[in-house]
Amino acid sequence: MASKQHSIKPVDSRPDFVKQENELLDKWYKNGITEKYLNKNNNKTKTFSFIDGPITANNPMGVHHAWGRTYKDLWQRYKNMQGYKQRFQNGFDCQGLWVEVEVEKDLKFKTKKDIEDYGVEKFVQKCKDRVIKYAKIQTEQSKRLGYLMDWDNSYYTMSDANNYMIWNFLKICHKNGWLYKGNDSVPWCPRCQTAISQHEMLTEDYKEVIHDSIYLSLPLVDHDNEFLLIWTTTPWTIPANIAVAIDPKIKYILVQKEKNRYWIAKDLKDKIFDNKDKVVRTVLGKDLVGLQYQAPFDSLPAVKKVANANKATFHTVIATDPLIMPITMTDGTGLVHTAVSAGTEDFKLGKKYNLPMVPIIADDASYLEDLGFLTGQNAKKHPEIILNYLKEQDKKGLNWVFKISPFKHRYPVCWRCKTELVWKVTDEWYIAMDRGEPSLRQRMQAVTKKINWIPKFGLKRELDWLTNMHDWLISKKNRYWGLCLPIWECECGNFEVIGGKEELETKAVKGWDQFKGHTPHKPHIDKIKIKCTKCGKLAFRVEPVGNPWLDAGIVPFSTLNYTQDPQYFKKWFPADFITESFPGQFKNWFYSLIATSAVLENKPSFKNVLGHANMLDSHGKTFHKSAGNSIEFIDGANRFSADVIRWYCALQNPAREMCFGEKEANQTKRQFHMFLWNSYRFFVNYAALENWQPKEEYINNPTVLDQWILTRLDQVVLKTTANLDKFNAFSGAKAIEEFVTDFSTWYIRRSRDRVGPNAQNQADKNTCYQTFFTVLETLSRLLMPYTPFLADSIYTNLTGQESVNLADWPSKPVIKNINKKLLDQMILIRKICEQGHAQRKVHQLAVKQPLSSLTIKINDSLALEDSKALLQLIKEELNIEKVIFKQDNQFSVELDTTLTPDLIKKRQARETIRLIQQARKEANCKLDQVVNITLPDWPKKYEAQIKQKTLVKTITKGKHVKLSF
Ligand SMILES: [Zn+2]
Ligand SMILES: [Zn+2]
Repeated sequence: MASKQHSIKPVDSRPDFVKQENELLDKWYKNGITEKYLNKNNNKTKTFSFIDGPITANNPMGVHHAWGRTYKDLWQRYKNMQGYKQRFQNGFDCQGLWVEVEVEKDLKFKTKKDIEDYGVEKFVQKCKDRVIKYAKIQTEQSKRLGYLMDWDNSYYTMSDANNYMIWNFLKICHKNGWLYKGNDSVPWCPRCQTAISQHEMLTEDYKEVIHDSIYLSLPLVDHDNEFLLIWTTTPWTIPANIAVAIDPKIKYILVQKEKNRYWIAKDLKDKIFDNKDKVVRTVLGKDLVGLQYQAPFDSLPAVKKVANANKATFHTVIATDPLIMPITMTDGTGLVHTAVSAGTEDFKLGKKYNLPMVPIIADDASYLEDLGFLTGQNAKKHPEIILNYLKEQDKKGLNWVFKISPFKHRYPVCWRCKTELVWKVTDEWYIAMDRGEPSLRQRMQAVTKKINWIPKFGLKRELDWLTNMHDWLISKKNRYWGLCLPIWECECGNFEVIGGKEELETKAVKGWDQFKGHTPHKPHIDKIKIKCTKCGKLAFRVEPVGNPWLDAGIVPFSTLNYTQDPQYFKKWFPADFITESFPGQFKNWFYSLIATSAVLENKPSFKNVLGHANMLDSHGKTFHKSAGNSIEFIDGANRFSADVIRWYCALQNPAREMCFGEKEANQTKRQFHMFLWNSYRFFVNYAALENWQPKEEYINNPTVLDQWILTRLDQVVLKTTANLDKFNAFSGAKAIEEFVTDFSTWYIRRSRDRVGPNAQNQADKNTCYQTFFTVLETLSRLLMPYTPFLADSIYTNLTGQESVNLADWPSKPVIKNINKKLLDQMILIRKICEQGHAQRKVHQLAVKQPLSSLTIKINDSLALEDSKALLQLIKEELNIEKVIFKQDNQFSVELDTTLTPDLIKKRQARETIRLIQQARKEANCKLDQVVNITLPDWPKKYEAQIKQKTLVKTITKGKHVKLSF
């Protein structure tokens, strides 16, 4: 409640919200308000555990970061008001390719060799420095959003604690028999020279590109002029061809074109051949299996070697496994080029049929040794070398090229540097999903089902991903800045996984002194050698760094002191709540969180997850620096106001993408912030003028209108609370928005005569003011989690308290029971008034013209006729003298439009009042100043009423309107 000395101050009609926000931030941080906020519930027992999904500390925040960060702040603020103790820990994601790529750009590096020449230690330090720099910038930006966290206690995924906790996790995976080194054909970025895991291939990481596709004819062995027709969009993989796959169940045809005959799927004939090209044979796919063919690169030494060693399987037709590589009839020929070393499905099919492979490219996508003229040339940079070679061959009388045509398709690119990916065979480290009983996949599925997913479809998405995902590729070759996998491998093939720093110290037989005092990163960690437990030789740490999602996935364990302080861990684990954007996180953060907790605790590390879609620009396009539409967060906040951004974000349905920009910001400001501000200003300017002080007992005798708005207030408090409890911000925000509209367009509209110096009934005025005060004070607390700046400026002006950040959530209802009947009655009244106004419009009768009666035909009048006060609202709103109810099934409203001389006089009285008020305004009269006036004419019958309403002492007749004092 207000302190005795506090007086409410008037406010501007055109507030500068941005300026106000910056001033409030200054106050919050300088006056220790944030400290008080963070420590408000220190001695409470109930806890709310929030785990922050770390933001990549690699660039300044964009305005699109505001959505998730608004949610994060919103629920922590809400729970703080409700008295829950919290940790308020923000997190920064630090390690990985994304940072390396930016540092490489800064240093103008083109290749991996540039890093080696520069020095790994210096490069890693640059990465650390970059993270620290942007963590500071993001902290300042987050503060500008009004996001209150324990900023000095943020966690960093590059910390020793985080890295060693992952070691612990990997060691347990190894104990369970899940960690293995596998050989696979994986998506690979030739620029970053590293594997891209299945997790990292997001839908947005595809580019629409045009590649030259080729229809290639492969001559069958022992069938003259007969060819298999295959089609590929990646001609660079042709030297890796091992087999041609067909679907054994569908029909294939042999088509005669000029002197040659080609095998293709029957359904694709019209796409490839003319009508005049005749079908000479039709068979089922299975009849083609086992046929042998020749391919254009058979003379290259590496290919020859494989061919000689695998005479039975090399270059044969095989039946596909539709679960691995389904053959579609949309493009191509129905015969699929199978390059075992250069495709995920190809590799799997090769494994199934025990096919050999010809590895063709190195880490940078240049062709390997023993590939003749191709060796050393770059497969991706110069795709034309393959096609040119084939064309040259054909000039010599061969028949390789059937057709070359440009093909537009969505092609995967590196999620960091946007280079087109290739597929290559490599040794990588994996966590097996299906070993043991229960397997990791089964454990993760069970854990996933125990989580409350918001929106609901999240559960299905995560389970779909878990059902289909391959073993988890956790290594990244050729990279420098990241988790160093704790795997020490011996040349005998044995490997050991180290679970932490102490264990490493015990097992190190070499290099500990050089490592001591350094973080577990390259290059220092690689100095350490351990002894192979099998053969006794020295074991070396494996070269790759780890998948960055391990870094973020281990956070609940590293930040909650899993191994060091079980008591503390138990108190805060599992988290009550996490929130992050949906796209991508099913495969990434959510996935890795579930993996770590399934392994370490066999239960979820979070109970509720709120996912949200992406924020796009006003035109529905993704924000991109290169597209020129990105808005840096600080610019956004200082252009639109942080509260406007927050409110807009809170109003969105998280399941759908949102569009945001200048237009949306201005509209939000107009429709909510200014609307609320004007209602608030209406009250505080009168309260300030009359030096009014709130007193709870003023509200003891409320009018029906007061009762109604206070009931609505209780209703909106309950609604917002219930929705926020369900982690639904937007239904809460909508309820508040509707309330503010009701307050302004009905309560204030119908209360104007009750307030201000002209109002005579002091008791009623106090009741009305106190109602205003109660509504606005409660509303400011309801808005605190949503729009803390606006809430704080209203709350502190009304109450004189230090800050809304330290206030409690409204929990006690103002009215004991929600009066449902009154709410319904008011809805009906407003409907009647709406129709009454419509009728006045039809008859061109302005509201200032009083009318004698209104007849309401209605089936159920909700007993309106029994309440004088409610009827009075209709009478005043529509300016009529009598309301008549008639029972009727058909609802209608009928005005008596007859104008009697007295009704006309009454209108003149009203007009006179308006005239005088206008004159007062023009003369800059104070609201409580009594004046005299000269008028040409006025209805004498209503003189007393006119005088009273306009604070006029005497009226004299004269030619012109004239005010005197
Ligand atoms: Zn890349
Ligand atoms: Zn060994």
